[in-house]
Amino acid sequence: MAQRIVICGGGAIGVAIAYFLARGGARPIVIERHEVAGSASGKSGGFLALDWCRGTALDPLARRSFVLHAELADALGNPWGYRRLQTYAGWAVENEAARGAKRQPWLSEQVAITGRLGSPQTTALVEPRAFTTGLMRAAEALGAELRHGTVVDLARQPNGAVAGVALEDGEIVEGDAVVIAMGPWSILATRWLPLPAVYGYKGHSLIFRTGDAVPAEALFLEYQEANGEVLTPEVFARADGTVWACAISSTDTLPIDPAKVAPDDGAHDRLEALCRAISPALAAAPVIARQACFRPVTEDSLPLIGAVAGVDGAYVASGHNVWGMLNAPATGEAMAELILDGEARQIDLARFAPDRLRRFDPAQLRGVPA
Ligand SMILES: Cc1cc2nc3c(=O)[nH]c(=O)nc-3n(C[C@H](O)[C@H](O)[C@H](O)COP(=O)(O)OP(=O)(O)OC[C@H]3O[C@@H](n4cnc5c(N)ncnc54)[C@H](O)[C@@H]3O)c2cc1C
Repeated sequence: MAQRIVICGGGAIGVAIAYFLARGGARPIVIERHEVAGSASGKSGGFLALDWCRGTALDPLARRSFVLHAELADALGNPWGYRRLQTYAGWAVENEAARGAKRQPWLSEQVAITGRLGSPQTTALVEPRAFTTGLMRAAEALGAELRHGTVVDLARQPNGAVAGVALEDGEIVEGDAVVIAMGPWSILATRWLPLPAVYGYKGHSLIFRTGDAVPAEALFLEYQEANGEVLTPEVFARADGTVWACAISSTDTLPIDPAKVAPDDGAHDRLEALCRAISPALAAAPVIARQACFRPVTEDSLPLIGAVAGVDGAYVASGHNVWGMLNAPATGEAMAELILDGEARQIDLARFAPDRLRRFDPAQLRGVPA
């Protein structure tokens, strides 16, 4: 009989694991508390780079994932606007023209382009909500199941091995294995499993409807506000005629309920003023979404990908930081190989072993609801 694998969390990571497990003949069950792609996996930039993790432990994962993104878009009909891009770096000072500098036609005279960071061979973009929901649909077509529910505990066999998960309403969802893929909410699983902490780091973004006013380009900018503060906005032109822009991070507290994530006061107004200053195309375009979300971060900034030591059938895939959209496919592929075959073949997961970091003391969550 096909293995039943319970995946906690319907973000890009959980959904990619479900897709590759279903492709491998297993029966994954994704349990999502809020909505698939309701958090960072639906609100992030969706920027992908082949070689920007060069020299770090992430490099093999990123390179494999960049290839898989192209293959998935091709194989599944690209309902998520996968496109290759030119990627530039630049700087701007509020209210000052960048005299004599190189310009891009869709940007204002405040913006100086300092160089090209990536070409269509090395940088690409997906629309993250469409990617995550599209991959969930593809997994369902292969036999995966999606359930709405809040995971509050593990179910165990008498010998301590994993038997499934317990939901808030008391239901037990049985499984031969369980994967924690709850993004920054994975910290709540330290109550059930010996895991290191995953923290949430908040970011704000806007989506403008620009039509065809902005070419297939991504821009990484240093922007000095009139008060002297420097922001580092990222601006990506999507295939669906929108432009996504983000800046302004904060260490605000993660709400336990993913549906309750809200922006910091004033953050969107500040970001909107910046966007309208750097581009006449953005100045003329309506804002169609104002978003805030938390990316999952570990103590050493590398993800946790692998088996949980000492608990048979327990796995984790979380803490993908700023590269979770890029690294979702290779993480899904590696986790499916690990769970079904006992070993990841494409990627050496040793560097991402969860027990490389010290275990988080769940007593610190006393008083925090499930
Ligand atoms: C502003 C911003 C821009 C970014 N830009 C990029 C980019 O350009 N490129 C890139 O590669 N990455 C980017 N990232 C990073 C990327 O978005 C994340 O690394 C990635 O989305 C994390 O995916 P995830 O599935 O681990 O977590 P999430 O997307 O947070 O998904 C976790 C899911 O778990 C669910 N959940 C929580 N608790 C429970 C529970 N108890 N039971 C069941 N389900 C639960 C949540 O509802 C949620 O849907 C960006 C992040 C931010 C914040």
